[in-house]
Amino acid sequence: MMNEFPHMQPKGSGWIEVVVGCMFSGKTEELIRRLRRAKIAKQKVIVFKPVIDNRYSADSVVSHSELSIESVNINNITEVYERVGDAQVVGIDEAQFFSNDLIKVCTDLANSGKRVVVAGLDQDYRGVPFEPMPELMAIAEFVTKTLAICVVCGNPASRTQRTIASGDRVLVGAADSYEARCRKCHYIPGEGEDPALF
Ligand code: ZN
Repeated sequence: MMNEFPHMQPKGSGWIEVVVGCMFSGKTEELIRRLRRAKIAKQKVIVFKPVIDNRYSADSVVSHSELSIESVNINNITEVYERVGDAQVVGIDEAQFFSNDLIKVCTDLANSGKRVVVAGLDQDYRGVPFEPMPELMAIAEFVTKTLAICVVCGNPASRTQRTIASGDRVLVGAADSYEARCRKCHYIPGEGEDPALF
């Protein structure tokens, strides 16, 4: 499932790597793994995440399995321009919470020679593409899609199942209200019936 490609500092050129998937698919773990390897290689690494994501720690990116890396929390993705400094590798987590300015910021960073590693949800709880991730995937050099395991049938899962009825696109800090499901077992609460009940 995981693409193998050289996670090395580009020579004279930057690039964009995108890690997308549903919740519980290991996106953030994969982001942290790549950034830690860059740090071990003595590369300058900086990690950004949106302020909206305070569920585990205010100043670090933490995966569900509690891997962590120090982060800079920002309200607007354009704050990256003044904060990025001379970092060679730039990580961005929970990227689906940023505006479409993410596309230009990542492009500018890569064009200036930086390696940009971006993790985020590719679909919302309805299975609808979660902008700005689709466009980012299109312009990236490398795209990795992480899959979880369907809690109902055990198949590879690409969908985030919301387990409570809410029409809001984002329920922050509500990991208990979600689970991973495959295409066959996924449904939209309030619009359909739970296939797990039949
Ligand atoms: Zn399933």
